[in-house]
Amino acid sequence: MKTDVVVIGGGVTGTAIARELARYHLNIILLEKEDDVAMGASKANSGIIHAGYNADQTTLKGQLNIEANPMFDQLCRKLNVPFQRIGSLVVGFDQADLKVLIQEEIKGQQAGIKNLKILAREQLRAMEPNLNQQARFALYAPSAGIISSYEFTISLANSAVLNGVKVLLETEVNGLMIEAGKIRGVETNRGKIAATIVINAAGLYSDKIAQQAGDQIKITPRKGEYHLLDKNWGDLVNHVIFPIPTKHSKGILVTPTVHGNLLIGPNSSLSTARENLAVSSTGLKEVYDGAKKLLPGLSRKDVIASFSGLRATAEGDDFIIGPSANCVGLINVAGIQSPGLTSAPAIAKSVTDLVKDTLSRINPGLTLTYRDDFIEELPKKLIFTEYLAQNDLEKWQEIIDDHPEYGEIICRCEKISKGEIISAINDPVPAQSIDAVKRRTRTGAGRCQGGFCEPRLLAIMSEELGLSPLAITKKGAGSAILKARTKDWLREQKNYTGGGEQQ
Ligand SMILES: Cc1cc2nc3c(=O)[nH]c(=O)nc-3n(C[C@H](O)[C@H](O)[C@H](O)COP(=O)(O)OP(=O)(O)OC[C@H]3O[C@@H](n4cnc5c(N)ncnc54)[C@H](O)[C@@H]3O)c2cc1C
Repeated sequence: MKTDVVVIGGGVTGTAIARELARYHLNIILLEKEDDVAMGASKANSGIIHAGYNADQTTLKGQLNIEANPMFDQLCRKLNVPFQRIGSLVVGFDQADLKVLIQEEIKGQQAGIKNLKILAREQLRAMEPNLNQQARFALYAPSAGIISSYEFTISLANSAVLNGVKVLLETEVNGLMIEAGKIRGVETNRGKIAATIVINAAGLYSDKIAQQAGDQIKITPRKGEYHLLDKNWGDLVNHVIFPIPTKHSKGILVTPTVHGNLLIGPNSSLSTARENLAVSSTGLKEVYDGAKKLLPGLSRKDVIASFSGLRATAEGDDFIIGPSANCVGLINVAGIQSPGLTSAPAIAKSVTDLVKDTLSRINPGLTLTYRDDFIEELPKKLIFTEYLAQNDLEKWQEIIDDHPEYGEIICRCEKISKGEIISAINDPVPAQSIDAVKRRTRTGAGRCQGGFCEPRLLAIMSEELGLSPLAITKKGAGSAILKARTKDWLREQKNYTGGGEQQ
């Protein structure tokens, strides 16, 4: 296979880059080692679109955060991704905290962020009545927002595919093809792909890829753990609430999610393993205690899920975006820790400029031209809860009359119909596992966490994909839900006499 550009990694960085590059006459292939996009940090984070006052403007992450924040309203409208600009509050309790808040406000104003404001106790209480009554000040940043990071990433990928990008899932890059200091392509578990440009957006593994070209990048994983609370807690706060930041993170925050849950976390601890997403009781206690300082009324009884994400921190604590020092045609996009989700649209633009530069160096005289058929907007999906929220049930009935599968509710907690599930299975980047359907539709994301709907979802997937139920997985290879047909299993047991002998 031969292509112009290979993008390694289907996180928010890789998918945003692939979509942006698809505006030009280029053949693009995106490679993702897992069975879906958004399987790394882009699946498990706070989902905050940061205002940007917090990040140092001499760093790339500071600059790209500020550039990208205003892009989200329009981009999310085009991609049909829920995004709410609810604003954030950094809460202070004493004079020392106030000093920090004033410094942040000045830093933000110097960076050009508008409408930052220090609030006094009464204003704060009016905006957040459930906040700790001891809170005395807050820095208010109205431009901060919330998003579902995996829905955003999946939509970027779907849009890229709609515009001609090939997304190859379960395709792991395990080597770079380099000749005479130039990239020639990548070696994967499914064979070689020749390419003129390779973009390394491999998240936690971006150092491993870069090191193959001799680039000295080192990534250290830093874990952040979370509790997600049921929807009856979603209106406990109206804004993203941060404590005073620590050296390594913005601290344990409390935020409503775009789907009406309450999210608390993350803590921050060094991790040695890049695949270890286990949560710990000590870590989760730290998260709960931290959030409780901000909201004393919080209770753990309605926690419906606990999870963790791994930050890909690079030495120097900044994004590393640029051409490889040793290999023409390789572009590293590494160390994309927070605010990487916020910065993704700006990172994509900056990498597109690097691709243009690199191509013109490889082939002087070559200029990239725009495609005039780029499709900006993703087709709108039929979502029952949207019609329900607008009380437009007559219209939904018309949809059911034409497509009866939209009349069968499969997930009762989140009110997801069979039609929505079938549509997700047939996405441009198709949902191939139970979790992939969950990320696209919210089937199993509610209070029962799939306890009731998962068997029905499994049956629908089996039917729609034409696969045995035994082949349906939770999240790709090695995670089959069913072990054997009961009859076969019983037959095996009867024949089993112990000691490995068959009768
Ligand atoms: C706890 C936590 C909280 C955060 N909160 C926020 C926040 O509120 N706001 C914000 O702006 N940012 C936040 N971030 C940062 C943000 O989540 C990341 O910056 C962003 O998701 C990084 O995206 P990425 O695409 O670079 O990496 P990833 O999402 O990790 O994607 C990399 C992809 O590459 C794939 N891959 C790796 N190696 C290979 C290979 N060899 N071949 C093929 N594929 C490969 C992986 O499977 C993965 O899918 C947070 C991060 C964490 C961990």
